[in-house]
Formats: sequence, C-alpha cells, structure tokens
Amino acid sequence: MRRIYLDYAATTPTHPEVVKTMLPYFSEVSGNPSSIYSYGQEAKGAIEEARGKVADLIRAQSEEIVFTSGGTEADNFAIKGIAYANEPKGNHIITSSIEHHAVIETCKFLERRGFRVTYLSVDEYGLVDPDDVRRAITDKTILISVMHANNEIGTIEPIAEIGRIAREAGIYFHTDAVQTVGHIPVNADELGAALLSMSAHKLYGPKGVGALYIRKGTKLIPFMHGGEQERRRRASTENVPGIVGFGKAVELAQQEMSEEAGRLAYLRDQLINGLLEQIDHTRLNGHPVKRLPNNVNVSVDFVEGESMLLNLDLEGICASTGSACSSSSLEPSHVLLALGLSHEQAHGSLRFSLGKWTTKEEIGRVLEVLPQIVAKLRAMSPLLKSHR
Ligand code: PLP
Repeated sequence: MRRIYLDYAATTPTHPEVVKTMLPYFSEVSGNPSSIYSYGQEAKGAIEEARGKVADLIRAQSEEIVFTSGGTEADNFAIKGIAYANEPKGNHIITSSIEHHAVIETCKFLERRGFRVTYLSVDEYGLVDPDDVRRAITDKTILISVMHANNEIGTIEPIAEIGRIAREAGIYFHTDAVQTVGHIPVNADELGAALLSMSAHKLYGPKGVGALYIRKGTKLIPFMHGGEQERRRRASTENVPGIVGFGKAVELAQQEMSEEAGRLAYLRDQLINGLLEQIDHTRLNGHPVKRLPNNVNVSVDFVEGESMLLNLDLEGICASTGSACSSSSLEPSHVLLALGLSHEQAHGSLRFSLGKWTTKEEIGRVLEVLPQIVAKLRAMSPLLKSHR
C-alpha cells in the first residue's frame, strides 16, 4: 500500500537534494569549525554560507542569525534570554493562549520563577487582537511573544501590527515563525520582530537544527555556556551537516515558495470543501482566509479524532489530531479549546497538512476514504446515540 503523508506540519521529509548536500560534511569535510587549519575552516565556511542563505530568506543580516538545535531551543533562548537580561527592568511577559508548547511551557517555567505572564485569548478563528496586546502592556512588560502562524489550525496572526505596537512601546517582540519560514514570505524587519524562531525540519531540511534571528543590538543572556561559537551567543560545536542542510533547504524554498504556496492552497481548499460537503456536522477550525496554504483542520462531531486517525492509518494515510507532540496524549488540544470548542469537538478534530509531494490524487483518496470511516464510526458511536 502506498503511504499518503499528510502530516508535513509535524515534520517534512528531508529533500533528497538537501541530503546530497549534507553528505560530504559527515566525512570529507568533518573538521571542527573552530580549528584554525584549513580543514576546519572549510567547515566554518560552509556554516557561514548557510547563515547567509537563512538571513537572506528573512531579509536579515548574517550576524543576526544564531544556529540552534531546533525551534524549541530558539523559543527557549529568545524568551528566557530576554527575561533574564531584562529582569531589572520588569518581569511581565505577554503571549497568546495558542502558542506552541515550546513557548507556553517556557513561560510557565518563568512564572514559577517570579515572572508574570499574560496569556491573551483569541477569537473563534484563532486570531489575537492587537488591541488586546496594547491593553495588556504595563510598565513592567519586557517581552511580547506571539506566533506568526499556528501549527494546529494554520491561522496567520496580525504580526506586523503587533510588532508595531511593541516597537512603539519599546518592548522586545518575539515571533515563533517555525510554521511560516520557507512557506510564506517572512521579513523579520517588516514584522517588527527583534527575535524570530525557525526550524529546518519544517521546510524539508534535517531534524535537530534551527535558528534564532536576533536583531542587531538586542541583548539576551545565552543559556548554553561553554565555548565561543556563534559569537558567544550559543556554545557547543556546530552541527555542520545539519546547518549545511538547513542552508540548502532554505535555498530550495526561496526558489519554489510562491508557486508551491499557490498549488498547495488550491489542494487545501479542495480538501476543506470536499470534507465539509461530504461529511455533515463538520466544521473548519482556524481562519478561512488568513490561513497557511497547507493547513486543513476540521472537527467532526460524534467521532473521536484518534479513531479516525487509526482508521486512516489502516488506509496508509498519515494525519494528526493536533500537534505531533500531543497526539499521544488524551488531553484535548489547548489551541482548539482556546477557539471555544467543547472537549468533544476538540477530541473529534483532524489536521491534514499538505506538502511538496502531495498530489490531487492523494486528496481525492482522502475524500473517498474519510466519509466512509466517519459513517462507520458514527454507526457505532455512543456520542451520536446520545445526541439523537
Ligand atoms: N514552534 C512551532 C510553531 C512548531 O510547530 C514546532 C514544531 O512542531 C516548534 C516550535 C518546535 O520546533 P522543533 O521541533 O524544531 O523543536
């Protein structure tokens, strides 16, 4: 059975061109980039080339990019780094209630250490209201962190507006752009971000590598102490093959992004419309328009997301019931609850995320299989019987 992979938001397969570019850096060019002999400097040169490509993609300067072990580290670094560097000024952080766990859990950690965090609510589509951000600011606010697009429901936030508010108030603004970089245009400066998180494995690069953009002049405390790598902002010998792969992935994304976004948005809408038409008692989660081109998230009443997922798996179709990290937990998604969904609706949600190798035949197959799965599950569903 051919696998139909529709979970690109969880992770993307590494592009074959990326793998090819990485390979020599495991063997032929495996010197330590901190070594001053040419073998080490060759690796260093490859890192700098990749740094230039990542900077270029978000219209930043090379010195503003620090490589990390992924999006989670970039989020931790940004939030803890700013919090600890600005403790004398204030202890208040503003974020949203639909952030990725990498942001939410970091904020909760800081709350246990004396910081105060405001978690802004969102509207039924998952949008943060910039006026709520403005109203939440106090003279103790040191950081605002709102994600560029949500990984579960695909809603794209009014980041440029929030960035402007932060800039006017003289407060650092961080945005988690893990789901947008390489998929839609991201210009760090236009978004007003002082800090911006990225991850390679969401854009056909390898896992375990990411980056944090740090606008020139932004002071933050590093939380990796040791050597002097990354201009003393992040100690540890660099993941050279990973960074080189990230650079190649970014180069490919830059070439293909606009055409690919159009193709995916078309397939996304085919899938959304097909599901809403063919399965009754189904709703779209997330914004109908301000939405990532590859995200489909629906709640299907009277069935469990997990049951749909397992039945789809039997057909070779990979999807998700929320974010990858929470798929194994029975807690309903905090993002769906924040939209105002009931626990039952949140439990009956499915996310399909499309990508480079998604075809219209695959979308057609989902539209053929899922209504049958739902009909079968509903026929057995105690949820439906109690509704009638
Ligand atoms: N932020 C968002 C919005 C994400 O979707 C993810 C991954 O799911 C992360 C952060 C974490 O990135 P990484 O897996 O590279 O640590």
